[in-house]
Amino acid sequence: MKHKIFIDMDETLTKSICAFVETYKEAHRYELEEGLLPYPIWEGISLWNMKDEMPFLKLKELNDIFDSPRLFDHLAFYSDTNGVTMKDFIRELLDENDVDVKIASKGNMQNLYYKHKFIKQKLPFFSIDNFIPMMGTKMDKSELEGLMLLDDNQGNLYSANVKYRVLVNFSGKKKEWNSKAMDDPTIYKCFSVNDVINTVKELLDFERSVVS
Ligand SMILES: [Mg+2]
Repeated sequence: MKHKIFIDMDETLTKSICAFVETYKEAHRYELEEGLLPYPIWEGISLWNMKDEMPFLKLKELNDIFDSPRLFDHLAFYSDTNGVTMKDFIRELLDENDVDVKIASKGNMQNLYYKHKFIKQKLPFFSIDNFIPMMGTKMDKSELEGLMLLDDNQGNLYSANVKYRVLVNFSGKKKEWNSKAMDDPTIYKCFSVNDVINTVKELLDFERSVVS
């Protein structure tokens, strides 16, 4: 039996908040230049509604930007200072014969459509059949059953039916969506791509030693 590993997309594989802020800045260039809106810093965001950096952002615009193709023009994979990226991590993981790699992402229909397209283009070595689009924005991944889930969102981690819950937090900071998990000793935590690679390797080695 293969070990099933689920990997989230936004803020786990990709710098989605950064891409969001770039898209927002394009849409509001005039107001930002004129000082009519505060200039948002993506690293400063720690509320799910992003009002800490964009106080006038409405839920409608938040959803519209996530559903916009322009966001995906700005989207990049997370990387470490030495250049190793989450794309490299996926490529390495696919080389393991006993692992079944799935990308499981939540979003509205348009957002999931563009994610599908992004994965096909940017991860050509990843079989698109292993992308699990999950409709809706409620943070619940209870339908996922397997060995582990890597996710930045504690709601997803707690709801998933997995043996190992791995919190991915490249900022290293507490956010509205991870603060409980950050204090939870039962949750594995990764703060860099290198951390992700090593943690997954260790957990897989442990599983293999138990089974054999
Ligand atoms: Mg996420």
